[in-house]
This record gives sequence, structure tokens and C-alpha cells, in this order.
Amino acid sequence: MSQAIVLQVNKSVLEKMNNHYSPFKKEQAPPYTLFAAKKGTVTITAYKSGKVLFQGPSAEKEAGNWQASSSTPTAHSTDLKKKTTLPPNFSNWSVIGSDEVGNGSYFGPVTVCAAFVPREKIHPLKKLGVKDSKLLTDSQIRLLAPKIEALIDLRLLTVTPSKYNQIQPKYNVNHMKAVLHNQAIYLLLQQIAPTQPEGILIDQFTPEKNYRRYIKTEVHPVTDNLYFTTKGEHYHIAVAAASIICRAAFLDSLEALSLEAEFPLPSGAGSKSDAIAAKILKKGGLELLGKYAKLHFANTEKAHKLNR
Ligand code: MN
Repeated sequence: MSQAIVLQVNKSVLEKMNNHYSPFKKEQAPPYTLFAAKKGTVTITAYKSGKVLFQGPSAEKEAGNWQASSSTPTAHSTDLKKKTTLPPNFSNWSVIGSDEVGNGSYFGPVTVCAAFVPREKIHPLKKLGVKDSKLLTDSQIRLLAPKIEALIDLRLLTVTPSKYNQIQPKYNVNHMKAVLHNQAIYLLLQQIAPTQPEGILIDQFTPEKNYRRYIKTEVHPVTDNLYFTTKGEHYHIAVAAASIICRAAFLDSLEALSLEAEFPLPSGAGSKSDAIAAKILKKGGLELLGKYAKLHFANTEKAHKLNR
């Protein structure tokens, strides 16, 4: 896998690097760079600002030689694309963020939300406590969701298990998600018009190329100004807000379905889910189970086995 590591070093270290890599220097250095070198499989690009980029299969090892003298606390090993997709200062832009929840849970719906956070709402959202939903408890999420809804424009789509079971045999899961993200974003763009976001950040679940292919045949494909990254909530608060809205809607829906089913439906896809599914199967077969669960999960087969 191609690695890219960025170190921030001071002037004296930069000078040492300049000497160290001089036998490996490329003849031409790109603009704003002090030098560019190729040592073995690693390309080293040093900027006058003290930023030094190591790229290639052994980038991590090469950068490791300088780690102690750099001011970067830990080397970030990421694939190159991730580092380069988002423009500098992106977290302060006016952005539509989109995310989904429920995809990994046997019981309950899939929820998708697109949320628009203009620049001036970034700070108020932070003050509310909006952050990575994985750092929040379920009850914090349920308290936050209505406050977010009161503050910004958003669109939420919920695919019930019954609907999911109809769609899933025809669409693969990523195709379904792409279509849902696109629809939520399109509806939100209509809602906020004539205002336009500076960018649209999708919490990445499939390569960009595939996303674009999946939405090609949609009636209203949104294709401009799209950015993709995993852990999107770390790059813009709009994704964090969307994620909280999705999670709250998922929890509400799971609770409503539990009341209807008269069984406590767990989130996730573990052995607890198998045991409850077995009981529902006994009561009403696949037809009943399909109202509450995503039937193509392996849990369905495990539940059948429990009843044998
Ligand atoms: Mn996500």
C-alpha cells in the first residue's frame, strides 16, 4: 500500500535533511519546495515551511529516521488520497455533511442524514457539544438531536427493515447507501436554495469512483463539489451533526419497533440478536421477522439453527 507521511521539522533539521538527501536529489524541485529526492522507493519532498512529505511503500520507515527530531507527535500513516482530498481550512467552510447509521445492525432501519452547516453555525454547534457521535452516549445523542434540528437545515431519510428487505436483493448495500446519500443531499440543496454550500462532504463508505457510478442513473444526481473521506466527522462538524441525527433516529425507530414486536430489539449483530430473532421466527416466521430485521444478515440463518 502506498503510504504518505508528513513531518513538521525546524530549520536545523531541514538543513540536515537537505545534506543527507543530497545524493538522492531530483534535478527539478517543485515550486515552494527546498528539494525533492528519491531514495529507494521513497520520495521525499521538503517544503521551505519545514513540512516534509514522505511517500512510497517504505515511507513510514524512512520518516521514522527523523521522527525524534520532528515536532509532529506521531506519524500519520494514511493512504495518499485521504491527505489530499480536502482543501486547507475546509473545517471552516459552509458545508453539507452526510452520514448513515444502522447498516451494521441486524435489527432496525438504515438512517441517512444530510446536514447543512454554514460558517456562522460552526461555533454554536460546538457549544452545544456536537462532536464525533462515538464519543457520546445514547442519551446524550437523544438530547442533542432536537437542539441540532432547531439550529440548522437537514434532511433525514429512514429505510425501514421491510423496505430494506425489498431493495436489498436488487441493490448491493453500498449502491443503496449511495442512492440515499444522494437523495438526502439533493433534497437539502432544494431546501436551502438559493444558498449554496462551499462543499459537500460524504462520510466515505465506498470509493468515490463507485459512488459516482451508483448515482449516475438517479433522476437528480448531485455530482459537483463532492468531497469524500472516512472519519468525516473529524474534518467537518456538519458530518458530526448528521451522524448524531442519524443515530438518534435509529434509536427512536429501534424503540418503536421493539414495542411493536413486543421484544427488546438489540442494536448490533451479535448473539443477542440471534436469540431474539429465533423467538420472532417461532412466533411469526420470516414474514414477521422481516418487519424488524435485515434478513440477508447471517443472523437469520443462526436464528433458524437455534430453533432446530
Ligand atoms: Mn459513516
